[in-house]
Amino acid sequence: MTKPARLVVALILFTAVDTSSQQPAPQRTQPPTTDGKLNVIAFGAHPDDCDQRAGGTAAKLAAMGHRVRFVSVTNGDAGHQSEGGGALAARRRAEAQEAGRRIGVEYIVLDNHDGALLPTLDVREQIIRQIRQWKADLVLAPRPNDYHPDHRYTGVLVQDAAYMVVVPNVASDTPALRKNPVFMYFQDGFQKPAPFAPDVAVSIDEVIEKKIDMLDAHVSQMYEWLPWVAGTLDKVPKDAAARRQWLRGERAGQPNAAVRAALVKWYGAEKGNAVKYAEAFEVCEYGTRPNEAMIRQLFPFFPAK
Ligand SMILES: [Zn+2]
Repeated sequence: MTKPARLVVALILFTAVDTSSQQPAPQRTQPPTTDGKLNVIAFGAHPDDCDQRAGGTAAKLAAMGHRVRFVSVTNGDAGHQSEGGGALAARRRAEAQEAGRRIGVEYIVLDNHDGALLPTLDVREQIIRQIRQWKADLVLAPRPNDYHPDHRYTGVLVQDAAYMVVVPNVASDTPALRKNPVFMYFQDGFQKPAPFAPDVAVSIDEVIEKKIDMLDAHVSQMYEWLPWVAGTLDKVPKDAAARRQWLRGERAGQPNAAVRAALVKWYGAEKGNAVKYAEAFEVCEYGTRPNEAMIRQLFPFFPAK
């Protein structure tokens, strides 16, 4: 290729990459709001974060006909020891879509760089548009206390979108919601400034294999990057069935004391104490604050009192 031709190709590529990050996220399903089904949207920093924190709950909701969208705020293009850039982002987007397919949820990957996320107005508006397009009843996201800056800023960005989703003059190209959704945080293990306080805990016993299947779709993470970071790459079995079993051992954790107490509150002592696997959520004060009846609507899993 001659030099000018190469320059033209480079310019075209540069332009394509440059504009794609500026555009609002693609608008897909337009969920109706009057059919009695819930619209739940979860935000993670990376294309496997929602899965680990809410994959089981999402699988249960999807099986009941409710609509769930997972959104990765970054494209994951830094999450590997030997791959990176656009090729890694494409690989992770495909993994996320397969993960979503396995449990029946829609998976969107926004085109922000991994490891470089900042709580800018641009990204805040991307998130506001996502919540509005989904006509969300419930929004899930990490707390803004976390070891990873992308996780922290995803927490901040979603907090910053709460309330703003009802202000028509903000991100005015996407119609504002008339009602602030309920916002809740994923469970985490960080203790400062305050430990995670579960307001709701969901038994995922009957969907734990589905959740492991979902995680298993993230090959670049579960079997390559995360074990490499942890120094356990040599422990990952090569055979597909064996490594899935290994993944189950790594990822299917038991509820801690606070989550157990929440399980007992919502399921009663007998059922709550028998739950093996759970996901838990804490109410964010910046969204609509749900009473017990509203929590039962948003998490339609609990036995009547
Ligand atoms: Zn992450």
